[in-house]
Amino acid sequence: KLHNTILELKGNIRVFCRVRPLLPDDGVGADASIISYPTSLESQGRGIDLIQNGQKFPFTFDKVFNHEASQQNVFLEISQLVQSALDGYKVCIFAYGQTGSGKTYTMMGKPEAQEHKGLIPRSLEQIFQTSQSLLVQGWKFKMQASMLEIYNETIRDLLSTSRAGGSDLTRTENGVPGKQYAIKHDANGNTHVSDLTIVDVCSISEISSLLRQAAQSRSVGKTQMNEYSSRSHFVFTLRIFGVNEATEQQVQGVLNLIDLAGSERLSRSGATGDRLKETQAINKSLSSLSDVIFALAKKEDHIPYRNSKLTYLLQPCLGRDSKTLMFVNISPDSPSVGESLCSLRFAARVN
Ligand code: ADP
Ligand code: MG
Repeated sequence: KLHNTILELKGNIRVFCRVRPLLPDDGVGADASIISYPTSLESQGRGIDLIQNGQKFPFTFDKVFNHEASQQNVFLEISQLVQSALDGYKVCIFAYGQTGSGKTYTMMGKPEAQEHKGLIPRSLEQIFQTSQSLLVQGWKFKMQASMLEIYNETIRDLLSTSRAGGSDLTRTENGVPGKQYAIKHDANGNTHVSDLTIVDVCSISEISSLLRQAAQSRSVGKTQMNEYSSRSHFVFTLRIFGVNEATEQQVQGVLNLIDLAGSERLSRSGATGDRLKETQAINKSLSSLSDVIFALAKKEDHIPYRNSKLTYLLQPCLGRDSKTLMFVNISPDSPSVGESLCSLRFAARVN
C-alpha cells in the first residue's frame, strides 16, 4: 500500500505529524525540498507530501505541524487531551520517528529554555494548575509519578536510587540486565510494576527534579546516525486520584507520555552484535505497538498486547475507553527521505 487516503478520526486514536526544521548538523547537500505541505499562519494543516525519486507520496493525518510550529502551537492542540486525564481518562501520548527527528524535543524539549519546553513539562504544569483551580469546587487531587525505560525488552526504573542488586542505574554498552520488574494488571484496570519507584508529587518543582533525575539515568548508545541516539523507550506515567469532598465523586486518570526508541531500520544504522539485538527488540516493540493500535482502530476482538513489554505495560491505557495520540516526527533532510517514508507509512497504518 503506497498511499493512504483521507482518514477520518477513528475512535480515540489520533495521529499528528511534526516536521522539524532543517538543522546545521543535517550536513552538506541536505535540503528540505522533499517535503511539501500547505503552510498556514498556524503552521499546521492536515496534509503532507513526500517526494522520493521524483515520485510524490501524499499522506493525511489528524494534524500536520510544519517546521515553524512552536512548542506552544503543538501543546495547544493536545492540552484538551491532557486535561481529560484529570476527568478520569487513561491517556497515552507517543513520539515515534527515526533518531534525530525531534521526538525528545517534542516530548521533553529543552526544559531550561521557556519557549523550547516540550509537551511533558507543559502538560504537567497544566495539570497542576487545573487541579489547583478545581479546589474551590471541592476537588482534591493526589498525583503519583513513575518513570521507566524499556531497553531490550527489560524494564529499568529511572527513579530508583539504589545501586545495589539490580544496579538499575548502571549503563553499559551492552546493557546490564536490571531486575525483572513484573507487570501485573488488577481487575480495576490498574497496572502494578513490582519494585518500581512511585513518587507522590505535589508540585511542578518536585516533578522537574524527578525528570532531571530520569534524564540522567537514561541509557544512550552510539550509532552512525547520531552520537546519542536513544535505544530505549522512555515512559513517564502520572497517576491522578481525584475526590470531591462535597459530592464524594471520585476519578482516577492516568497520563502516559512516551518517547519511543528510534525507528530507523537496520541497514542504515549499521547495527551488528549487541546493536543488532537492540534493534530487533526495538523493531519488535514498535511493530507490536502498531499492531495493537491497528487492532483497536479496526475494533478487532483480539488485541495483541502481550507481544511486547511496552504494549503489555500500557495495556489498560491502550484500550477502547482510553485516548491515544501518536506523534510521528519527521526529519526534513533529503538523505532521510527513506526513513521518513517508513515513518509516515507506519503512522498511516495506525491512523
Ligand atoms: P530524537 O529524540 O528523535 O532523536 P531530538 O529531539 O533529539 O531527536 O532532535 C534532534 C535535534 O533537532 C535536537 O538538536 C533538537 O533540539 C532539534 N530539534 C528537533 N525538533 C526541533 C524543532 N521542532 N525545532 C527546533 N529544533 C528541533
Ligand atoms: Mg531522543
